[in-house]
Amino acid sequence: MEDCIFCKIIDKEKPSDIIYENDEIIVIKDANPKTPVHLLIIPKKHISSVNHIEVEDKALMGDLILTAKKVAKEENLKGYKLLINVGKEGGQIVDHIHLHLLSGRPIEIP
Ligand code: 5GP
Ligand code: ZN
Repeated sequence: MEDCIFCKIIDKEKPSDIIYENDEIIVIKDANPKTPVHLLIIPKKHISSVNHIEVEDKALMGDLILTAKKVAKEENLKGYKLLINVGKEGGQIVDHIHLHLLSGRPIEIP
C-alpha cells in the first residue's frame, strides 16, 4: 500500500524498533510512547481499520491478541491494556489497523 507508514515499516523501507516479527505480524515500539511500555501490534496485511475487517481476517485478528499475550509474557508485563482506535473520530491517525499494547503506569480510558 503506497503512502502507508506501517506498510513502509513492514517492508523495512522505514526504520523502527522491532520487538517481534513473524510472517503475518510485526510488533514495534511506538515512536511517541504514551506509557513506559507502548507497543504496536500490526498485521502485515494492509487492512485500513476495524471497519474494513472481513470474515477471512478472523484468524489474523485472533493472532493479534495472541501475539499481545506472547509479547507481554516475554516483556514480563504484570498487566496491560489493549486498545484499537477506529476512524478519525475514534482517534485513529494511521490508517493501517493496529493494536496498542500499553503498560507501565495506570491508564485512564473513559
Ligand atoms: P493511532 O492513533 O492511529 O491508533 O496510533 C498510531 C500510533 O502510531 C501513534 O501512537 C503514533 O505515535 C505511532 N506512530 C506514528 N508514526 C509512527 C512511526 O513512523 N513509527 C512508529 N514506531 N510509530 C509511529
Ligand atoms: Zn499499510
